[in-house]
Amino acid sequence: MFDSLPSQATAVASGAGFPGPAATQHNHDQPFQAYLAGLKAEGRYRVFADLERSAADFPCARYRQAPEDAGRMVTVWCSNDYLGQGRHPAVIAAMQEAATAGGVGAGGTRNISGTSAWHVRLEASLADWHGTEAALLFNSGYVANSATLSTLGKLLPGLVILSDAKNHASMIDGIRQSGAERVIVGHNDPEDLARKLALVAPERPKLVAFESLYSMDGDIAPLEAMLTVAERFGAMTYVDEVHAVGLYGPRGAGIADRDGLAHRITIIEGTLGKAVGCHGGYIAASRAIVDAIRSAAAGFIFTTSMAPPVAAAACASLAVLKQAADLRIRHQDRAATLKAALTAAGLPVLPTDTHIVPVMIGDPVRCKAITDALLERFDIYVQPINYPTVARGTERLRLTPTPYHTDAMIAHLVKALSELVLK
Ligand SMILES: *Cc1c(COP(=O)(O)O)cnc(C)c1O
Repeated sequence: MFDSLPSQATAVASGAGFPGPAATQHNHDQPFQAYLAGLKAEGRYRVFADLERSAADFPCARYRQAPEDAGRMVTVWCSNDYLGQGRHPAVIAAMQEAATAGGVGAGGTRNISGTSAWHVRLEASLADWHGTEAALLFNSGYVANSATLSTLGKLLPGLVILSDAKNHASMIDGIRQSGAERVIVGHNDPEDLARKLALVAPERPKLVAFESLYSMDGDIAPLEAMLTVAERFGAMTYVDEVHAVGLYGPRGAGIADRDGLAHRITIIEGTLGKAVGCHGGYIAASRAIVDAIRSAAAGFIFTTSMAPPVAAAACASLAVLKQAADLRIRHQDRAATLKAALTAAGLPVLPTDTHIVPVMIGDPVRCKAITDALLERFDIYVQPINYPTVARGTERLRLTPTPYHTDAMIAHLVKALSELVLK
């Protein structure tokens, strides 16, 4: 009985019976090819390295130029799995056990059969971490930012969002979609924030959105000063702690945990994809805010929920991170050791107080050539950071030492960079 279907499809494809010109074959690739040629001419065409991470040999990975190659081991110096939690034995075991017991996918949205005990436990664990009443999972940190910020604009008529000039693309995306009025605030500048808040009509709802730790320059926001200014004007605060969760504070819940300020933030946003070593994003806030976002955010509602084994793995990782002070000390020690070695060799390190170690190159073509040579000649993998991730002229290598980078790995990297950058 299905035999008639293909012939119907053919009739539609040929356009028979529709008004307009006869169907002809079009090639739609030309504008895309022109765009790609432009990227290549500027030296910022992105090539993804095929890296098979090694749980046994973290932070090393097998690099292949084609899937069928044997490949070779390289040392990865730019992973956001900052603490190697992605290969922690307890995290791997939790994922395996959850998959064996319950299968892989969630099988639905949170509302339609896709909420499991793992989702509920993980949200409770996140709320406990940040000291908030509640937390809400998203499928990535990007979605957490874009869905939450865009929804706040819809729930709060007349909202003004004051957004730090260096905010991440996901926050900018959410703010744009929110329909709220947007005011850009000078980077990490509480005085500029105060000036700009003073210009907003007092009766309008206001939200100050910024990051606690900026991942490209490795600088930390003056969190207490920003919160104090926001409070003075009755503004809500939204703090992206994506590059700080797991890494700072007595229980590793971020800069707000370190500084004892979490209770003064309206909404904390984080990721499970970086120091937690898994995948997904979240917000932590009051019960009312979480319940409203849960009820209204399209990016939360209309998508299959996080795979339960991922949620189980994240739960196990959080349990480790809440008491991993030794790991955080070792992480900071490795970053300090790397910075000192690069500085002693005369390399152009951007000074930071954090685990992020930028080496400034300032030219996309040179940046790419250096990273190609690191890979080919020294078995070192670092991805060049080019526009639009950073401003043109500030292209860089962004090094992220983990607790598992050894003194020998640091010495080898510094020697290679000295040869390639200083010659
Ligand atoms: C990576 C990143 C995100 C997005 O998190 P994902 O979980 O990777 O989607 C959000 N904010 C900042 C500042 C980031 O660097």
